[in-house]
Amino acid sequence: MTKAVIAGGGIGGLTAAIALRRIGVDAVVLEKAGELREIGAGISLWVNAMKALERLGLAGTVRAIGREEIGGKIRLSGGKTLSEIPADALEERFGRNVVLQRPDLQRVLLAALDEAGGVARLGAGCLGFRQDGASVTALLSSGREERGDLLIGADGLNSMVRKQLFGNKEPRYAGFTAWRGLADLRDGRDGDGFEAWGRGSIFGLVGLGQGRFYWYATKNAPEGQPDAPEGRKAELLGRFGSWHEPVPSVIRATEETQILRNDIYDREPLNRWGEGHVTLLGDAAHPMTPNLGQGACQAIEDAVVLAECVRYGNGDVQAALELYEERRRPRTADVVRRSRLLGRVGQLENPLLCVMRNAAVRVMPLRLQLRQLDPILGYET
Ligand SMILES: Cc1cc2nc3c(=O)[nH]c(=O)nc-3n(C[C@H](O)[C@H](O)[C@H](O)COP(=O)(O)OP(=O)(O)OC[C@H]3O[C@@H](n4cnc5c(N)ncnc54)[C@H](O)[C@@H]3O)c2cc1C
Repeated sequence: MTKAVIAGGGIGGLTAAIALRRIGVDAVVLEKAGELREIGAGISLWVNAMKALERLGLAGTVRAIGREEIGGKIRLSGGKTLSEIPADALEERFGRNVVLQRPDLQRVLLAALDEAGGVARLGAGCLGFRQDGASVTALLSSGREERGDLLIGADGLNSMVRKQLFGNKEPRYAGFTAWRGLADLRDGRDGDGFEAWGRGSIFGLVGLGQGRFYWYATKNAPEGQPDAPEGRKAELLGRFGSWHEPVPSVIRATEETQILRNDIYDREPLNRWGEGHVTLLGDAAHPMTPNLGQGACQAIEDAVVLAECVRYGNGDVQAALELYEERRRPRTADVVRRSRLLGRVGQLENPLLCVMRNAAVRVMPLRLQLRQLDPILGYET
């Protein structure tokens, strides 16, 4: 039986292991953390990722525990709506997105992996690999080794597998930092989600149902800037406290210790993802800014296509991985570039440029907005 070793037990690595088990490939996930913990509040799984999960038989479970998201709205910081894609237009053209809490998604993936007979080894950091013509061996921090027919580097932004393949290049800092959190407004209110644009800052709100919200916020900042001395919540209230409701209420309803902060990075798309029996997947292959909410969605698509190519390769691992890269590189490079562009537009700070941006968005016809989403949401794995 073909055996796949997967470095990294994030959304990408777990989904790849499930997809490979579904086609009868032995799958071992090596995760450097001592426990599998998805952090990062909520996550949007757009229609393209839901279609990929459908192929794995997981879409129904994900829909059942998540909330089907409706429509898309861009507002100004004062609350005025700049543009809106109505729910029925989005659904009619593409289908429905799902939003859920990250730990819930991880639970679904772990249960599916277990059911499919895959194995996740925790505390198993992959330091690198060695390969001969026929197999590949992952070298672990414990000194142990894991041999397989293929190695998939799904080990995230600072992937060790990528480093060994292509050298130690730093990711590109996008010029802004992002906070994320979960808030319970406790009033049963199920507000519509929106993204509000200010100058050099964005605040996004996503309803999770029953008064619970996932939110994210950004500001332009130098790389590695420490938290403000008054703490994250106070800094957020200083910056977003005068924005329209429910923005200040949502921040106030979030516990200080639960507010996450990450500087945002991406990388230039690669011309190759692997060599021989080794390839990359998810953020290890194509980290992107979160502006399109597509990082994990692309990792899920990668996983489904990878398994399809391995099945098609029928024992020829190298040919399968070449086919996988051929199918996935152009697609993901396009999404990386679109995300980066949207990030630049969203983070504009110059007042004149912001006025021009807002005017352009306000007059954009619905059919053009939908057409812009076509290449991303209309994709079939
Ligand atoms: C603010 C923000 C909001 C986002 N919102 C969305 C969204 O709404 N929708 C969406 O689709 N995407 C979103 N993303 C992107 C998404 O979080 C990532 O693209 C996704 O988590 C990538 O999954 P991954 O499995 O490739 O990598 P990761 O999640 O980074 O997982 C990598 C795993 O590998 C492990 N690991 C690392 N090194 C090693 C090693 N040497 N050996 C073994 N294991 C190792 C890590 O511990 C980790 O568990 C967002 C990102 C940010 C920053």
